[in-house]
Amino acid sequence: MAIDFTLTKEQKELQKMARDFAQKVLKPIVKEADACPDPWKGFLMTKKAYEKAYELGLAYAFVPKEYGGAGVSNVDTQIAVEEICAVDPGFGCTLLVNGLGLMPLIWWGSEEQKKKWLTKATSDPDKDFIVSWVVSEPEGTANFDHPGKHPCGMQVTADYDKSRGEYVINGRKMWNSNATGWDQKGADINVVVARTDRSKGGKEGLSVLIVPRGTKGLRVEGILNKLGHRLTVQPRIIFENCRVPAENLIAGTEGNGDLAITKAFTWSGPVAGIAAVGVMRSAFETSLSWAKEYAAGGSQPIIHHQNVGYLLADMKMRIEAGRYLSWRAAHYLDQHDSEGMEAGALSKIYCGELSIEVINDAMRLMGINSYIKDYPLEKHMRDALCFPIYDAGNMGMQRRRLHGIMAHESYNPMALAQNLRQQFVKAMHGIDADPGHAVAGVTGKGKRRECASVSS
Ligand SMILES: Cc1cc2nc3c(=O)[nH]c(=O)nc-3n(C[C@H](O)[C@H](O)[C@H](O)COP(=O)(O)OP(=O)(O)OC[C@H]3O[C@@H](n4cnc5c(N)ncnc54)[C@H](O)[C@@H]3O)c2cc1C
Repeated sequence: MAIDFTLTKEQKELQKMARDFAQKVLKPIVKEADACPDPWKGFLMTKKAYEKAYELGLAYAFVPKEYGGAGVSNVDTQIAVEEICAVDPGFGCTLLVNGLGLMPLIWWGSEEQKKKWLTKATSDPDKDFIVSWVVSEPEGTANFDHPGKHPCGMQVTADYDKSRGEYVINGRKMWNSNATGWDQKGADINVVVARTDRSKGGKEGLSVLIVPRGTKGLRVEGILNKLGHRLTVQPRIIFENCRVPAENLIAGTEGNGDLAITKAFTWSGPVAGIAAVGVMRSAFETSLSWAKEYAAGGSQPIIHHQNVGYLLADMKMRIEAGRYLSWRAAHYLDQHDSEGMEAGALSKIYCGELSIEVINDAMRLMGINSYIKDYPLEKHMRDALCFPIYDAGNMGMQRRRLHGIMAHESYNPMALAQNLRQQFVKAMHGIDADPGHAVAGVTGKGKRRECASVSS
């Protein structure tokens, strides 16, 4: 009996701990922080809750035990993340990005690098250690694996200065959660993807570097003011001749920054998926209670109307489907060392897009009252609108990855169902990245970049 959805005793304890934290520590601050017009102030309101999450081991639970973490599985992560995101997915995003940044170090770092940086993250006496994953750029991110040399794809460069044994980073990034740190001087560790070889395309020219907080030349230029996910913060940042020693290049990522991006956003796929499930679950519970109490001027609560019951049924079945797809994707990642690029993308796309439909149904059920800030559904909708476009957008990155996997000759459509390992290879990258000449007669107003393909 290998397929079994029963939670173990330890998983139930983890669920209870995460639920207690979410309900007792996080929930009391959410409304005010979400409503705060200044996103920076809203983020700072979460600091005490973050410190508590750190204390409970939630901030770095994914780090292997030998470096001070709890070494939790992806499946266990699902259980904790659902509870936190049922209360606020923005706060969940702050925690998620610690993992997005550090997982590439766990997969590709040398032993020395892991000891140095992971141990710092897990042994912070101030309990506010925060990590950023610095990929996205103002000029676009989706085509990070474009085969053209600089200035196609990733724009931020890290040139090697041989005389000093340092990389010199220049350019702008945007959207990178946590990259402000708690004082706008940078995250404790900024894990930055940059072009270390300007003459090469996105499949060979990118690497991942660690830029510690306080490094000269890294500056926060401004804070983005978002519609939802308001408890997490995203800045615009600039690198101006920002120097880091060569040893800060994560060992196995030289020329493999593309694989690091894809694997990190694979790891986070089921996490974003279950975050969306958490939000849907809260929206369902709100509309269910409403339906049982509110009569809309009729003689009995609206749950007695058939359309209300059917909407609830439709919502519930989709939420459950989303939850199990996410669990399955996390389980697959556990089994195959996070080489689950298909599973990760499927769960992220499905749950994120589903959450908007389900919350829309919750709003249709509740009616006009759902549209005012007295009730939680408008916040759920604002938060849900983020799911399809963050954490590697569903169109330009997640679906494109699926296209690359499915177009490759090695693709086995039954691999997921049969739990067979699917190895992601570089040849799956780059698909759809340069359609410039593909559609006859179509011209855009944007300037076409001249970038000869240098890699296949
Ligand atoms: C709350 C939040 C947190 C975030 N945290 C981080 C973070 O920690 N680190 C980080 O680096 N980023 C972060 N981001 C940014 C996020 O990961 C984005 O998903 C990412 O920047 C890619 O956005 P995009 O796909 O819209 O890219 P863009 O490059 O801006 O593309 C825009 C659109 O163009 C279309 N498109 C472009 N190219 C193609 C193509 N080849 N094929 C098909 N369609 C295409 C797609 O419709 C795509 O959505 C965050 C964003 C939010 C809202």
